[in-house]
Amino acid sequence: MHQSQSRRAFLGHSVRLGGSALAAGPLVAGGALGWADAAPARRMARPTSGDAALKELLAGNRRFVRGKLEHPGRDSVRRVEIAEGQKPFAIVLGCADSRVPPEVVFDEGLGDLFVVRVAGNTASEPVVVGSIEYSATTFGSVLLMVLGHDDCGAVKAAVDVVTKGATLPGEIPGVVEPIVPAVEEAQNASPADLLDQAIKANITRTATQLKSADSLLTDLVTSGKLKVVGGEYKLKTGKVEMVVQ
Ligand SMILES: [Zn+2]
Repeated sequence: MHQSQSRRAFLGHSVRLGGSALAAGPLVAGGALGWADAAPARRMARPTSGDAALKELLAGNRRFVRGKLEHPGRDSVRRVEIAEGQKPFAIVLGCADSRVPPEVVFDEGLGDLFVVRVAGNTASEPVVVGSIEYSATTFGSVLLMVLGHDDCGAVKAAVDVVTKGATLPGEIPGVVEPIVPAVEEAQNASPADLLDQAIKANITRTATQLKSADSLLTDLVTSGKLKVVGGEYKLKTGKVEMVVQ
């Protein structure tokens, strides 16, 4: 423990020297950059408001889009630090789609995000709402983001149910049924792209439901301790675009 702390302090020192070493000449600069590569990534101060938390997530997403990942908080120091207790600053209710892992697309680390994932990012089941309530009340998470994405298979299936009367096997209807009202709402607007409109409507409906439902979240939202937003992740660009904020 002492060893890793002093190593971290030493690495931090060498990174701070990096700028001047770089100016001094290529030989020294090479050494300094070598240390910088091995240094732990930066740690932000934990955001204490919903606005600050959203800013942090969107900054991480910009790094992801540009390929400038910092991979913060994924080293052994952070792992040991949070073993004694977590304090995730944000909750993400995301789709289970393998292409949209929240810690990756927001470039966050261990202990930063309390992630609940269910295909179609809906909150119709008590286990989903309860998980979100747990993080908000126990860990004081200040932001809840409902994170949908384009080309979502769960929403596509709901569109097929509504427009083609499709039937689905097993327990899959349980995934799709909560999305059907969003598809019907989107249909009423006669959009050029029903799927895209339904994806946005589903994000908005879920965020609204979580904000206004009779749950432990209501007091936190009305007292300003929890901000609820909705975003849509774009599969090709990696960008999260705000739908509800
Ligand atoms: Zn999806």
